[in-house]
Parts: sequence; structure tokens; C-alpha cells
Amino acid sequence: MSDQRTLTLKEFHADARARFGENPLNWAFQCPSCGDVATGEALRAAIASNPRKHSTGQSVRFTDVLGQECIGRSLGALKGSAVRGCKYAAYGLFPGPWQVTVPGRERPMFCFPLAPAPLAVVSEDGGASS
Ligand SMILES: [Zn+2]
Repeated sequence: MSDQRTLTLKEFHADARARFGENPLNWAFQCPSCGDVATGEALRAAIASNPRKHSTGQSVRFTDVLGQECIGRSLGALKGSAVRGCKYAAYGLFPGPWQVTVPGRERPMFCFPLAPAPLAVVSEDGGASS
């Protein structure tokens, strides 16, 4: 189980970049419930094969739920048929365990912890850091 952590959005992005590089498709989060580690790429593929919409009618994009939902939610866990993951969400009954304070937002954003950095990081585009 992961520890609770509170950080700013800036700190959060810096940590994610340090672990996985600039591309959010490579960012990986670990579900605090089932332990599944899913990258943005895996989540994008899961959503592409199971498209769904927000209550607003807009299509769910991987960036909407990255670090917010276990990949199982995009693979049918809510219907009990996911091949991996579970239905856990960082905004659910037991929020977090990470809290990210977002400028202009009154309430923090809850998210899953980032997965540990991979052993070898492959740089894709040189990623100019700001
Ligand atoms: Zn899970």
C-alpha cells in the first residue's frame, strides 16, 4: 500500500517527468487497491477499445482518467469482466492516496501514486524541460 502524499501540480508533474519523461503516455500509476501498474499508453488503448462518455456527453480521453481510475474501469470491471485491474477510483469513497493541489481549484485532485521509475528510461524526443 502506498503512503498518502500531498503535493502541488507543479511538483507532481516534475516528479512524473523525472520518473518517466515528458510524454504522459509513458507515465505510470499504481492502483492502490489491486496494485496494477498502468501507463497512459495502456489506458489509452483500453479506452479506445471500450469507448465511453462523461455525463456531459464528451468522450472520455485517457488524460481525463490517468492516475484517477484503475485501468480495470476502462476494461469492464464495473460489469465484472475486466481482464486486469479493478474498479477502484481515486475520487471514490477512499480518495487518493495522493492529493494534488491545483491552481484555481478549491479542492485538491486525488490521484493514485506514480509507479516507481523504470530501470532504464528511454528518452524519446530529448524533452526540453522548462
Ligand atoms: Zn485496481
